[in-house]
Amino acid sequence: MDEFEIIRRYFERETAADVRVGVGDDGAVLIPSPDRDLITVVDTLVAGIHFPETLAAADIGYRSVAVNLSDVAAMGARPRWMTLALTLAEPDSSWLEDFSRGLFEAADPHELALVGGDTTRGSDTVVSIQIIADVATGRAMTRDGAEPGDSIFVTGTVGDAAAGLSILQGGLARSDDVDFLIRRFARPDARVAAGAAIAAVAHAAIDLSDGLFADLGKLLAASEVSGTLELADIPLSSPMSSLMAENDAIRFALGGGDDYELCFAARIADADIGAIAERAGVSITRIGRVDEGDGLRCTRNGDDYPYRDDGYRHFH
Ligand code: ADP
Ligand code: MG
Repeated sequence: MDEFEIIRRYFERETAADVRVGVGDDGAVLIPSPDRDLITVVDTLVAGIHFPETLAAADIGYRSVAVNLSDVAAMGARPRWMTLALTLAEPDSSWLEDFSRGLFEAADPHELALVGGDTTRGSDTVVSIQIIADVATGRAMTRDGAEPGDSIFVTGTVGDAAAGLSILQGGLARSDDVDFLIRRFARPDARVAAGAAIAAVAHAAIDLSDGLFADLGKLLAASEVSGTLELADIPLSSPMSSLMAENDAIRFALGGGDDYELCFAARIADADIGAIAERAGVSITRIGRVDEGDGLRCTRNGDDYPYRDDGYRHFH
């Protein structure tokens, strides 16, 4: 199977309405909407670094799209087009079949069209996806608008994916709770609807890919403010609470990456946040506050809780 056969069999589909030229030519020709800004994001997943080599191909496909959708969500944007650069050691039709199914399972609910890419042979499996999204002119959410007096919020529950990955690596007898945590790693839900819903009220937002502590720290630094995180308020899933000791759950929640929840700063009443959460179909929890100064400190039931963590880094 050569690369043209791979592209035709697994990646070429009917051209979407907002695509003039899709897969098959030298470049894709896209039809942007008037009065909207374009946003581009790209994320690369390397086997053995971003996912275990044993992760199912369908999950690799799904996850590669979801991590990019999460960046789009954090900008409050609407995903529209994507390209896929795929490097494979050995093209295997059942792997490609499963991979492309997972990829489109993540993309289709968002009407995100695959419009081009690149297929190459290499020593490791590497999946690089770029998404082009759009947002009403001037309305993109950024990391840098948090203000003293804002509350800090997070969508969903945190720490699950890191707990799931540690279970995948360590092995724990299967159960519904274990499967839930593994699924949170393998099939993250990008909070695209939540991003669009909070864009109207959030002063700053970021998605959680490197861990709550590290990523919230980046938002605060970009905004030139400080923050306090109350650990007792961090939302934990019930599988997390029932499988993990409390201190481990806190460690996963603060330091574990891969949650792909949204964290944002806003000044807003509980009732209004509740209405937004309802509209977005995800819980939203107030977990801290923004102050003047710099740095992020943690409290546990109001008492100082020393914690240090700089998040995942590829290069030290
Ligand atoms: P070129 O040599 O002009 O760069 P290629 O032969 O690499 O083009 O690709 C042929 C067509 O297939 C192009 O339109 C490209 O965008 C598309 N394509 C290549 N790989 C993929 C892929 N993995 N997924 C989707 N489209 C792809
Ligand atoms: Mg060409």
